[in-house]
Amino acid sequence: MKLPFQVNLKDKVVVVTGAGGVICSHLAKAIAACGAKVALLDLNKDAAQKWADEIVADGGIAKGFEANVLVKESLEKCHQEVLAEYGKCDILVNGAGGNNPRATTDNEYAELDDAAKEMKTFFELDQKGVEFVFNLNFIGTLLPSQVFAADMVGREGCSILNVSSMNAYTPLTKIPAYSGAKAAVSNFTQWLAVHFSHIGIRVNAIAPGFFSTAQNAKLLWNEDGTPTARTGKILAATPMGKFGEVDDLVGATLFLCSPEAAGFITGICVPIDGGFSSYSGV
Ligand code: NAD
Repeated sequence: MKLPFQVNLKDKVVVVTGAGGVICSHLAKAIAACGAKVALLDLNKDAAQKWADEIVADGGIAKGFEANVLVKESLEKCHQEVLAEYGKCDILVNGAGGNNPRATTDNEYAELDDAAKEMKTFFELDQKGVEFVFNLNFIGTLLPSQVFAADMVGREGCSILNVSSMNAYTPLTKIPAYSGAKAAVSNFTQWLAVHFSHIGIRVNAIAPGFFSTAQNAKLLWNEDGTPTARTGKILAATPMGKFGEVDDLVGATLFLCSPEAAGFITGICVPIDGGFSSYSGV
């Protein structure tokens, strides 16, 4: 794979959660291309293994592992497997996350005549759906950090990279749970950076802007492939006027993971958003 620049991650053991998915499989490939041994973790082991096979075919070192970021026992079992395969974790990328329709309202704004309409409003949001999304993004970042950062204590050059989102800065309409959960991920990034600062484990995050992926396809595209009204609003609110590509996330990821390049950087969240988070709309 073509990298924007090379950092030296040779022999580093890098654990990537959510690595069966669109964004984190790509980050795993970039990290592997810098010489790391990459453990691709996902609820869907086959998806993770498929990407690992591609990395190996390209001459890298990688393997897929099954892990549920919401279940500590599952992570601990996976941790033992990673230890046996590659040794202690140097870098953890907390990529597993996402939204769920059960935690999404149909309407952007409450209106006085909503009761007469056939739709899911704020009042019908499913508590279990909200809890699921909150847990997947926040607990799903905290638990892997507990399990894999234990390997980092007392060793040099170790770090955690979390994956936040634009809605951590200002919530997006319709998705209160995902917005709150990603705000919690950004906040936790700062908390953990301070907490780990005396023992040398750096903790940072990236906040991807808008990328058209499977996770948000239903919000962005109609069934006939035409853009939804939301897509028009996103592009109008993105000064660069386009969706991001997964390649756009590689540079910041490699930079923040590299102890040589970012050794004095901890507690930051880098927006990769075509200017979305800087633009007031006027
Ligand atoms: P994706 O749906 O393609 O990938 C997510 C992966 O996480 C899937 O492979 C899924 O199987 C896995 N997963 C789900 N629950 C899990 C669990 N309990 N344990 C382990 N793995 C689990 O999503 P993506 O678009 O690649 O997003 C990756 C990250 O980037 C997420 O944290 C997401 O919130 C964030 N993000 C995405 C966008 C975007 O535009 N797609 C924007 C900002 C942030």
